[in-house]
Amino acid sequence: MSSSRKVLVVGGGIAGLTLAVALRRRGIAVDVVELAPRWDILGVGISLTGPTLRALAGIGLLDRCVAAAFGFDRIVFADAAGREVGALAMPRLAGPDYPATVAIARSALHDVLIRAAQELGASVTLGATVAALDQRGDAVAVEFSDGARAAYDLVVGCDGIHSAVRRLAFDQVPDASFTGLAVWRATMPRPAAIDCMRVFYGRKTKAGVNPHSRDDMFLFLVQPIADDCRPQADELHVVLRGQLDEFGGEVMAYVRDHVTDPRRIDYRPMNAFLLPAPWYRGRVLVIGDAAHTTTPHLATGAGIAIEDAVVLAELLASGLSVPELLDQFMARRFARCRLVVETAVKLGDMEKDTTIPIQAHFDLMRATFRKLAEPI
Ligand SMILES: Cc1cc2nc3c(=O)[nH]c(=O)nc-3n(C[C@H](O)[C@H](O)[C@H](O)COP(=O)(O)OP(=O)(O)OC[C@H]3O[C@@H](n4cnc5c(N)ncnc54)[C@H](O)[C@@H]3O)c2cc1C
Repeated sequence: MSSSRKVLVVGGGIAGLTLAVALRRRGIAVDVVELAPRWDILGVGISLTGPTLRALAGIGLLDRCVAAAFGFDRIVFADAAGREVGALAMPRLAGPDYPATVAIARSALHDVLIRAAQELGASVTLGATVAALDQRGDAVAVEFSDGARAAYDLVVGCDGIHSAVRRLAFDQVPDASFTGLAVWRATMPRPAAIDCMRVFYGRKTKAGVNPHSRDDMFLFLVQPIADDCRPQADELHVVLRGQLDEFGGEVMAYVRDHVTDPRRIDYRPMNAFLLPAPWYRGRVLVIGDAAHTTTPHLATGAGIAIEDAVVLAELLASGLSVPELLDQFMARRFARCRLVVETAVKLGDMEKDTTIPIQAHFDLMRATFRKLAEPI
């Protein structure tokens, strides 16, 4: 019976905690081990688009997430001078009473997930990981980093792009590919006029603002880079302001004035990764960024991690055998996640080619969001 199953979730990020909530909602026992000794979530914002909100509704987390976030129904596109050139109306997939999309501080999303996981009785251990996995018949024998041992019906690696579970269970895995892009993000107070995501296409970079609470918004800037180098930590604000120089208009002038504190700036070279199907070996599966890491061009990397978790919990509760449900999981997840990873990389490549008109970017985005609106 599904309710007697016991699952080990490795990694307490967005995928792992969502899976813990989704499993507990279905009455399935779950242990979560998280490598970090304490929750220390960087406070930059993240978008949750319609399909993600719909998935969160399925596990009873929509209201809490929306209450902690800032909701809107469209994305506005402008040129480098700040002149509007188009807008993308987003469908309200979570229901007419909910916004089409939200942005939320990562720390706020994490608070919602950890609180729900604990309320529902998931066991969460910090500062712990798996040391060894031994697949024996219908169970996986796990040895933890502190020497403890336990057996599980399924082990799910939700431990991100550098997944240790993937390393333990898979013989050969392709490397993540460097996209030639870096993403800057900085949090600042939200002016009242910024009530939805606004994206500005410059000649060298793309920038945007995204309101993630009543009081705050975050700036993002995508910059082509030659290699995986990082500016000096105490110089981040100076370098970012330089990148913003190509943008005119009121919004970007405000943003530039508020890029003052290097400690409030996050800079990341971007990699992309898609694990070939299937994402499991025996009874060890990886989901979220451990299986598919994407750039933020569709604001959907966490979204597909959340969907993975919701679909997996549904299948685990269905009464199917573990091999059957893993097979069905791949049938429902692979093509959709590949679409996100490959389209996001393509949008990034298009940004590097300044001869491609802005219209082509949002035509591709619109077509992809339409596809992602289909049921999972
Ligand atoms: C700049 C940027 C902007 C983004 N913006 C968006 C956005 O707007 N919308 C969106 O949907 N997505 C966005 N994403 C993508 C999103 O952040 C990721 O897809 C998402 O965080 C993946 O969640 P995860 O839980 O799979 O992995 P992670 O977030 O990497 O979490 C993995 C967890 O596992 C833990 N861990 C690692 N190793 C071990 C181990 N050996 N044992 C135990 N625990 C371990 C880690 O400490 C961590 O808690 C963005 C990504 C970036 C880089």
